[in-house]
Amino acid sequence: MPQIRAYGSMSGTSPLAQLTIPRRDVGPTDVKIDILFCGVCHSDLHTARGEWGGVQFPAVPGHEIVGKVVAVGAEVTKFAVGQNVGVGCMVDSCRECESCKSGREQYCYEGNIGTYNGKDHHLGGHTFGGYATDIVVDQDFVLSIADSLPLDAAAPLLCAGITLYSPLRHWGAGPGKKVGIVGLGGLGHMGVKIARAMGAHVVMLTTSPSKAKDAEKLGAHEVLIWSDEAAMRAASKTFDLLMNTVPQSHDINALTRLLKVDGAHVLLGVPPTPYPPLDVGRMIGNRLTVAASTIGGIAETQEMLDFCAQHGIVSDIEMIAMQDINEAYDRMSRNDVKYRFVIDMASLKNVAA
Ligand code: NAP
Ligand code: ZN
Repeated sequence: MPQIRAYGSMSGTSPLAQLTIPRRDVGPTDVKIDILFCGVCHSDLHTARGEWGGVQFPAVPGHEIVGKVVAVGAEVTKFAVGQNVGVGCMVDSCRECESCKSGREQYCYEGNIGTYNGKDHHLGGHTFGGYATDIVVDQDFVLSIADSLPLDAAAPLLCAGITLYSPLRHWGAGPGKKVGIVGLGGLGHMGVKIARAMGAHVVMLTTSPSKAKDAEKLGAHEVLIWSDEAAMRAASKTFDLLMNTVPQSHDINALTRLLKVDGAHVLLGVPPTPYPPLDVGRMIGNRLTVAASTIGGIAETQEMLDFCAQHGIVSDIEMIAMQDINEAYDRMSRNDVKYRFVIDMASLKNVAA
């Protein structure tokens, strides 16, 4: 069994450092991917720092993986050596439940197998993610990436992209709909681009006035500073849909008040501490939905990648070396990233043994 170079944390309080992890041999339906780039999601930080609890260490994060196929198993039909591919937040599921059978593997009744911190049915123990030189994944959980997409800037589509694409489609974002994207970070900036390409009227809701110009460049028709109470009052009951990407607990009711009758506020962030109680009176009085959503199914993720290729959508990235990851996490927690860090995995491969 190959032992490979990776980066991870040994506890919630220790910084990430280089370590060695096992990867399984290539099985009959497996694809082995040489990882070229890996995006840095706020979920990586929540996990490596043990903020969510239930984390198994060593934790090797990374679920915005892109690279090239370097080997395929004897029964692999979907991919060939040399192809550009990606892996997102899950690497398997039960494949038999109602969710899996309807292409919604992310909602597998048994729980999908996370790309990291999931149950590893092949080697035992837990799965290790994309902060590594390579990965072996069953072909059914590998995505194809169009040659027209730059691989580095496409990496964040595998989590940030699909996390916004799926609920935007599900809740009908499109022409005639006013859609608010809350939080201009990794998820949020993909949300602005995708909602705009779907034809919606897009409003960026940010706490950072300094990001207003960027929001417009990314495609927002309007910017609302949602810490500004007067502006929030003026915008009350004007939105059809809100996509909330904020990673910390906050007053979600203040945002829900922006919705028209029948509007939906979709929670996408996963704060380590609970939200305040819902203002149910407001919801009843306006038939509002407060909902939540996670990533998308495999077929839908492929659809999103093809949609992004067709519309020329990729992430705005800042490239870092693997060795810079702890500083990148500190900057991400200080809200200082425009708008996604992506790791150049050559930096890990080129370290002297
Ligand atoms: P990120 O790049 O750090 O962006 C989060 C943005 O939220 C920030 O840029 C900031 O935008 C705003 N924000 C941060 N702290 C805030 C606070 N205390 N109050 C109000 N606004 C705040 O994070 P990300 O990678 O986009 O991830 C966001 C969240 O989604 C994380 O909790 C992550 O775990 C979760 N996530 C969920 C899924 C899913 O499947 N549902 C998938 C991926 C990630 P402004 O400066 O514009 O206010
Ligand atoms: Zn993620």
